[in-house]
Amino acid sequence: MKKVKIIEENCIACGLCESIAGDIFVVEDVARVIVDKVKEDQIELVQEAIDSCPTDAIEWDE
Ligand code: SF4
Repeated sequence: MKKVKIIEENCIACGLCESIAGDIFVVEDVARVIVDKVKEDQIELVQEAIDSCPTDAIEWDE
C-alpha cells in the first residue's frame, strides 16, 4: 500500500483535497493526511487530489 503526504509549506488550506477524498485528508489550518496507508481502492481518488491541488502540496511518499 502507498503512503501520501502533504508539503505543509505549500498548502493554502483551500479544502479541495478534503472535498475530493474526505476519508484521506482533513483541512484545518493546513491539510493533514488522516490515514497511515492508502488502500488500493482509494488510490484513484488520492491521485485526483494530487492532480487537483492548486499548489502541488500533495505527493506520494515513496
Ligand atoms: S488541495 Fe492542496 S492546497 Fe488545498 S488544502 Fe489540499 S493540500 Fe492544501
